[in-house]
Amino acid sequence: MKYNFLDLAKANEPYMQELQEAACNVIKSGRYLHGEQTNLLEQEIAGLCEAKYCVAVSNGLDALRLILRAYIELGVLHTDDHVIVPANTYVASVLAISDNGMTPCLCDARPDTMNMDTSLIENLMTPAVKAIMPVHLYGTPCWDEQLITIAKRYDLKIIEDNAQAIGAKASTPGINGTYTTGGLGHASAISFYPTKNLGALGDAGAVVTNDEELAKTVQAIANYGSDRRYHNIYLGLNCRIDEIQAAMLRVKLRYLNVENMRRSDAALAYDSCITNPLVTKPNIFDDMLQIWHQYVIRVKNRDAMRAYLEKNGVGTDIHYATPPHRQPCYRRFQSYRLPVTNAIADEAISLPIGHPITASEAREIANIINGFKG
Ligand SMILES: *Cc1c(COP(=O)(O)O)cnc(C)c1O
Repeated sequence: MKYNFLDLAKANEPYMQELQEAACNVIKSGRYLHGEQTNLLEQEIAGLCEAKYCVAVSNGLDALRLILRAYIELGVLHTDDHVIVPANTYVASVLAISDNGMTPCLCDARPDTMNMDTSLIENLMTPAVKAIMPVHLYGTPCWDEQLITIAKRYDLKIIEDNAQAIGAKASTPGINGTYTTGGLGHASAISFYPTKNLGALGDAGAVVTNDEELAKTVQAIANYGSDRRYHNIYLGLNCRIDEIQAAMLRVKLRYLNVENMRRSDAALAYDSCITNPLVTKPNIFDDMLQIWHQYVIRVKNRDAMRAYLEKNGVGTDIHYATPPHRQPCYRRFQSYRLPVTNAIADEAISLPIGHPITASEAREIANIINGFKG
């Protein structure tokens, strides 16, 4: 394959020496959990998201689960509540809701952003809905006046799934007046899964919030439910982050802006060079900052395009061929009317945008795409 969809070894190669040194320092410190690296990472991530508190945890799904669980412990949410979540998302967003005994209410997507269509939220409202989980899919913020207005009117908690959009900026300010994703709503979850824009060398995630009580509760639940040593106030879990992963992430965090800019250059190159009328390109919005976790085109004859690209040395992927409501575990949602989500699932192709794709390689790939005749 001339243009790999993603080559993680190559993506991490430029940081090899710094990663090795950072890992070495953790090994020598003898402190492998709850140490300095975790504390510093938490401060840095809170700062990046323009929020007050960050609790680094085991992974992105746990971060989402912990937010909901903490709200339940605090009596703010309850296990039989309903939570609005986009149908076009990775299944983990929905699993976090189910895991807490809550009911996911799937909201269809908008064709232009591929994110949750906030104009449909009102139709989904029932007295059982107590929270909403916007997902900033593919690195495009899902945030507008309509979402804020409905959340205020119905007193909903807004929990951002920021797994794919660390460092992105919305066009409308969040409830605290800031613009960076992860600090827009009441709480947010980040994933540091290795393929994400800020990827660890294993599993890691974080909860971000301006709510001190929520942060403390998440911290306690993630550590056996203990507020202090050998004192368990909740039926807790073990969802901690490793010091080694925190150290790896602190190295890579220094290069996140450079990485996001490289992705943006590649996205702009795709946007200006792909001219094939059979291809619908993702929208670039002037009033927000998208961080291009994925560059997702839509093609009616998807399988033929993928086979053609494969034959011409371009690796691709699909996010997501089987959306949550078509998964066997969510059989009960399979008959839902979700036309935009279904169309995206049938037509989407993710082009290479993670390492090692440069803008000039994106132009070469665009030329190959333009040669596709259908
Ligand atoms: C990756 C991802 C998650 C889950 O994060 P993990 O760290 O893999 O548990 C949740 N939601 C979305 C939208 C994701 O892309």
